Amino acid sequence: MRAEREWMVEHQLRRRGIEDERVLEAMARVPREAFLPLEERDRAYDDGAVPIGAGQTMSQPYMVALICEQLALRGLERVLDVGTGSGYQAAVLAELAAEVHTIERIPELAERARETLAALGYGARVHVHAGDGTRGLAEHAPYAAIAVAAAAPEPPPALYDQLELRGRLVVPVGDLREQRLEVVVRSPEGPAVLRSVPCRFVPLIGRDAF
Ligand code: SAH
Repeated sequence: MRAEREWMVEHQLRRRGIEDERVLEAMARVPREAFLPLEERDRAYDDGAVPIGAGQTMSQPYMVALICEQLALRGLERVLDVGTGSGYQAAVLAELAAEVHTIERIPELAERARETLAALGYGARVHVHAGDGTRGLAEHAPYAAIAVAAAAPEPPPALYDQLELRGRLVVPVGDLREQRLEVVVRSPEGPAVLRSVPCRFVPLIGRDAF
């Protein structure tokens, strides 16, 4: 799987414009197959989302890389990851920051992600919570960065409120068919939207969502 992972990094990420070497290295290290049910493991390095059960998917490698790159992490941050799913994005974030809190609304997925992350040695730096992530996770706020892996009609206000000053929130915004990845930066003047590219994610479900 190592050769497939390197191929993914070169062809799906670097050639499409991912430039942050820390992100490329992190994605070359994390074994994506370990986050998938056994019957889906041969699709681990496909150029797309992969089913993980409960009607959910593990995001496409390129989208994981783009979200991580847009968060502009340096290594010392506390990060919130909304929509744990398989736990793969949380593991990549743990390679890029100091402390990751990740929240998932489907308890079975949260439990499975917690087990996978612990087995791979991420247990100390990644904390898996079960609950509605549209409200954020006030106990551990503020966050330097918040990643959302499911689409919302608007950036959930509670997530913006839990950002540090100059902190970044990356969230797919739109309807159920098409969305743009928005990068919202907290500033003294209020939210500043930095950049947005077209994307397609499963819906965020809960308060302030679908
Ligand atoms: N980052 C994940 C992608 C999972 S897909 C990975 O790397 O595998 C998005 C996930 O968001 C799904 O598991 C879905 O159940 C979850 N989700 C949807 N609405 C949510 C909410 N309000 N709070 C927390 N998780 C939510």
